[in-house]
Amino acid sequence: MNEPPRETRSTCCYCGVGCGVIVESRGDRITGVRGDPAHPANFGRLCSKGQTLHLSTDPALVQAARALQPMHRRDRRDPWQPVAWEPALDAIAAGLADIHAAHGADAIGLYVSGQLLTEDYYVFNKLAKGLLGTNNIDTNSRLCMSSAVAGYKQTLGADAPPACYEDIALADTLWVSGSNMAWAHPVLFRRVEDARRARPAQKLVVVDPRRTETAAAADLHLQIQPGSDVALCHGLLHLMLWEGWIDPAFIAAHTRGFEALRQRVREATPRETSRRTGVAEADLVTAARWFAGVGDDGRVPEGGRRRTLSLYCQGLNQSRQGTANNASLINLHLACGQIGQPGAGPFSLTGQPNAMGGREVGGMATLLSAHRDLADPAHRAEVAAMWGVDAVPATPGKAAVEMFQAAADGAIRALWIVCTNPAQSLPDSAMVRRALERCELVVLQEAYRDTATAQHAHWLLPAASWGEKDGTVTNSERRISRVRAAVPPPGQARADGRSAADIARRLEARLRPGRPTLFPHADAESVWNDHRETTRGRDLDITGLDWARLERSPECWPFPSGAAQGRVRLYADHRFATPDGRARFVDAAPRPPAEPRDAQRPFSLTTGRLRDQWHGMSRTGTLPRLFGHAPEPAIELHPQDLSRLRLTEGDVVRVRSRRGALVLPARASAAMAPTQAFIAMHWGDEFLAG
Ligand code: SF4
Repeated sequence: MNEPPRETRSTCCYCGVGCGVIVESRGDRITGVRGDPAHPANFGRLCSKGQTLHLSTDPALVQAARALQPMHRRDRRDPWQPVAWEPALDAIAAGLADIHAAHGADAIGLYVSGQLLTEDYYVFNKLAKGLLGTNNIDTNSRLCMSSAVAGYKQTLGADAPPACYEDIALADTLWVSGSNMAWAHPVLFRRVEDARRARPAQKLVVVDPRRTETAAAADLHLQIQPGSDVALCHGLLHLMLWEGWIDPAFIAAHTRGFEALRQRVREATPRETSRRTGVAEADLVTAARWFAGVGDDGRVPEGGRRRTLSLYCQGLNQSRQGTANNASLINLHLACGQIGQPGAGPFSLTGQPNAMGGREVGGMATLLSAHRDLADPAHRAEVAAMWGVDAVPATPGKAAVEMFQAAADGAIRALWIVCTNPAQSLPDSAMVRRALERCELVVLQEAYRDTATAQHAHWLLPAASWGEKDGTVTNSERRISRVRAAVPPPGQARADGRSAADIARRLEARLRPGRPTLFPHADAESVWNDHRETTRGRDLDITGLDWARLERSPECWPFPSGAAQGRVRLYADHRFATPDGRARFVDAAPRPPAEPRDAQRPFSLTTGRLRDQWHGMSRTGTLPRLFGHAPEPAIELHPQDLSRLRLTEGDVVRVRSRRGALVLPARASAAMAPTQAFIAMHWGDEFLAG
């Protein structure tokens, strides 16, 4: 500790706002963190999670919680045995190669994470599709962002959020749907508060079944019934049509498919929409007028429509009709021409720090590199040529939940899990645990040694974590930032991409002997250079960007060769990414929730983030300071429901769903509507019985 203090610029590892941080360190210890005033995502601000990042690197906590050396056990009931890296890598590669030889490539599944760096993602994706020959690689981003991706592609033609953070200050109406930004994306919500202070006429509309902290700040809270988002959007479009608030010239010049949707929403009268959503008819009228950007007199103001920016997240995405939820909201933007100009457009918020980077490299079961289409033979041939392999497989791989179901059914025999905790975080955890127990080989790369998934693994490879990794991430506004290591990883922990490449090169000896390695990369920059080349000519082209430029400043994609800077807003010319340049309206029927309330199960359960915890709490759960805000799990109910059930605050209750039961305290909450319940998403076995 006699060494002089150092400062390293990097990013926060939690949500998709992608805040820049300055990491203070001495020797191999991180001693502090503060917001980076030069980073355009946060201009120096950090939320409670970002401010405490360094505390999780305290040496005592590292010793108590981190995975520090490779571990193995033949049987999951046996204690872990420490193993040196080289024999561990040899044995894992041999195990995977044996399963590959006996049962084929599709008997192996890789389940990775939106917290991986883009370069790590690139290596894993190439390993699965280029070396093993399977598309069975998917990510926990499947749970949070796949609906947003599909919604963008169906309507605008590409997986590309068209707006940027600056638009928050420029919008006349901010439309927040299915997001408690105040807690889940706190630094971005500070921008909302700034904008409202600077421009008191700006409207904030929040669509959420709960009266969250975000909803409490709104001018208008549409407290919808869970699962009624499509019905709400259709009802708003009906009103816009009836009142003449749509933009027929924009629709005629730049879109297709409006007529079918027009027919669809004929039935979505205010009365019917109010019945389906639970929102008062008068509020529907106000909401439609504000979204359309017309004045109180129903006319387009002289200077043009007031601009509407929608910000949305898991409340839309995590649904049986998540794609339709996204598309029906984008329909409203298209109907009113609210897109492609400062302060207007649809803007999905990413839950994780690099959900977008994973999609950029195609690290999912249904994607190929640089937004290429797995179903397109020409795209597959391009990727195979760039990688130097004979072919990439055409059959889509198993998406996250399907992958674990296939393992539970015996079709997948090896699971390689990286930087995520599916035994806690995937839906239907009983099925996930059955899958893990049935697999012949479960390899887990993790920074923390006691996660729920670790209990079911044969191999635990210690992973580098925040402050110890080198590469890039892409945040919600398509901005690529450098992530830099401030200190070396503790113990024998290694970067995930390095462990993957080490296993891959051993696999090559069995799967493509005598041929040049597919993994020659010496460092993160050389991996990124390969990724950059795959983007040439694609919608996310970054061939004009280089590592030196990224060292100086974070940049948005696209940034094609010859460009002076990245494009922060898309579709300013109203030419969309479809073959004919016209956006598509999506005509989706509203569907009821998959499991509606009934006499046996009279409550709808929703979930969401707490302000100071992150996902499965493997990192934030080690910090006592972050428990001050919500020290224990609870089920929140409307006060009337609590008294109707003859419960008092703090009573311990058993909560049953069709798939399982939990025991936890009950709490009255004015945020809840009657017949609805809320349990925060974070709590696992360590905190909950059941
Ligand atoms: Fe980290 Fe998100 Fe908080 Fe920024 S807003 S400090 S990225 S958790």
